[in-house]
This record gives sequence, C-alpha cells and structure tokens, in this order.
Amino acid sequence: MPYSYDPENIFARILRGEIPAKTVLETGHSLAFHDIRAQAPTHVLVIPKGPYVNWDHFAAAASDAEIVDFTRAVARVCAELGLEPGAGGQGYRLLANSGPHSHQEVPHLHVHILAGRPLGPMLVRPE
Ligand code: 5GP
Repeated sequence: MPYSYDPENIFARILRGEIPAKTVLETGHSLAFHDIRAQAPTHVLVIPKGPYVNWDHFAAAASDAEIVDFTRAVARVCAELGLEPGAGGQGYRLLANSGPHSHQEVPHLHVHILAGRPLGPMLVRPE
C-alpha cells in the first residue's frame, strides 16, 4: 500500500529546526521531546527522523537500523526519566495512534510516553 508523507507536518518542521521543541534525547535516527499539551506529569513523544506516517509504514519501509534505534530510543527515554518498573520506577504507558479511528493528529509516526501518575484503564468508553 502506498503511503503519502506530508513534509509540512508539524514534526517534520521540528526535525528541520523550524519549530522549537524541548528535546529529551536525540540519537542517530530518532528524536524525543516533550509534548506541548502534556496529558500526564511526564508526556514525551519519540519520533523517527525518517519520513514515516505511522507504525505500519515504519515497520514496512524503515531499515533495521532505524527500527532498532527507535525501539531503543523509547526505552532509553524511559530509563533516563527513571520510569522503568524493572529498575524501581513506577512504570509508563506507550501509545502510538495510527490513522483516523485512532485520532492520530500528526501524520508522522510518534510514540507517546505517558507516566508520572496512575493512568487508569487504557480506554474510556464514550457515553
Ligand atoms: P496524536 O493525536 O497524533 O497521537 O498526537 C499528537 C501530539 O502532538 C499531541 O499530543 C499534541 O499535543 C502534540 N503536538 C502537536 N503539535 C505540537 C508541537 O508543535 N510541539 C510539540 N512538542 N507537540 C505537539
């Protein structure tokens, strides 16, 4: 399936340095920064530097090096913020919206890292 990447999306502009972001971690293939509208005490977004719309696009088209880097970047952010439950932290939630039913707003793959308080059940049913 063809994927159409919009190079003017807000995260592409952050990657080009056209819009500021509060960087948490930068690696060869990935960037992590604080979400501008935090929904938890810790709310960090991790994005690949490559032009991937969502998770399935990334899994199909990214190189092994990009996928390894991105996976480890997410874990490194969790470790550096002291969130790892295996290392005494209180844990975290990872969330990656992909496509219209997920309510994805920015069409560049991103993983949300949410933490810092009990986050409750995963989904709230609409009334
Ligand atoms: P989505 O709904 O696509 O999964 O999440 C997009 C996220 O990007 C939202 O949580 C939103 O607050 C965040 N966001 C949108 N614009 C900006 C921006 O300019 N800077 C930062 N740091 N986050 C943004």
